[in-house]
Amino acid sequence: MNVEFSPLERQYKMYEEEYKKAICEVMESGWYILGERVQKFENAFAKYHDTQYCVGLNSGLDALIFAIKALGIGVGDEVIVPANTYIATVLAITQNGAVPIFVEPDQYYNLDAEKIEEKISSKTRAIIYVHLYGQPSRIDLVKEVADKYHLFLVEDCAQAHGAQYKKQKVGTFGDVGCFSFYPTKNLGAFGDGGAIITNKADIAEKIQAYRNYGSKVKYHCDIEGLNSRLDEIQAALLQVKFSHLEKLNEERQKLANYYDQNIHNAYILKPQKAKDATHVYHQYVVRCENRDKFQKYLEKNGIATQIHYPIPPHLQKCYQYLGYKNGDLPITEKYANEVISLPIYNGMTESEQQYVTAVINDFQLEG
Ligand SMILES: *Cc1c(COP(=O)(O)O)cnc(C)c1O
Repeated sequence: MNVEFSPLERQYKMYEEEYKKAICEVMESGWYILGERVQKFENAFAKYHDTQYCVGLNSGLDALIFAIKALGIGVGDEVIVPANTYIATVLAITQNGAVPIFVEPDQYYNLDAEKIEEKISSKTRAIIYVHLYGQPSRIDLVKEVADKYHLFLVEDCAQAHGAQYKKQKVGTFGDVGCFSFYPTKNLGAFGDGGAIITNKADIAEKIQAYRNYGSKVKYHCDIEGLNSRLDEIQAALLQVKFSHLEKLNEERQKLANYYDQNIHNAYILKPQKAKDATHVYHQYVVRCENRDKFQKYLEKNGIATQIHYPIPPHLQKCYQYLGYKNGDLPITEKYANEVISLPIYNGMTESEQQYVTAVINDFQLEG
């Protein structure tokens, strides 16, 4: 049997007719940029989170860049960020001229709330928290630290649409919540897309201007902006998928539960569940001491996997100038060497999951 990593056409097929109808309506309307579909999606996404504002953007990276920019953070400032994250989280800081201060992860792969305080300096302005793989861990503690030191809190929710901590949705704990609608995300478009949510009018207004040349009133530019708009077709398609998000997340949780119950191999470490968290399993990430051997073994058996992520940001070539070397962030580096993401996607069949599980349970570290 062959099991792909993320065959997106399965999810498309579930709501095919709705997508086709949505896309045709936009084409026939003759209005393609910043119209009623974007507005409607923004309203629905804000309402779902019980926040005042949502601004649709071109990507998750832009959401993060604009969030940091709108908070007035730039050259000379420091921002606390998880060392164990996707590069985009860190790019949001450096693209604004600020310096990332890396903090090691907890056992749930997220920023370790207990290691933040020791990294705070007189230059620290904000903390970015990432709900990595779809699970929040100690965001309440992070919020306490942010409040104590008067720091802004930005949430990177790119992998965690609909996830909750103590029954509160992610994206609503800090000053700004940033989302990506990249096609593979739990709420994915059919192209690039992103959004921010916030309760602060000044942040929402600034980001609305940034996404549209810096212009609030047509042909009047008060600030220097960019072009980073969510387009009408993507908004219409997102509206369709968004109406099914809870069901899609439940399906992922059921698939994860199956792996939790049925993977039994002493060499494979399954993900741990954080207390009070609702995990939406953007990824189901396990660890193996000989990860490369395990990945090759799965590949030989027709099972596709991915590594999220093989090189941590502090060791990327683009950040050589920050001066980090191997061994500086040992927990992050250990995770980078051991993590591997198993196939988990909407439309995955029972027989596919049984097969993946059986192959994993037969894996031997030696020989
Ligand atoms: C995907 C992702 C981003 C970037 O989103 P894009 O829409 O691809 O720009 C940022 N942070 C995390 C954690 C992500 O997974």
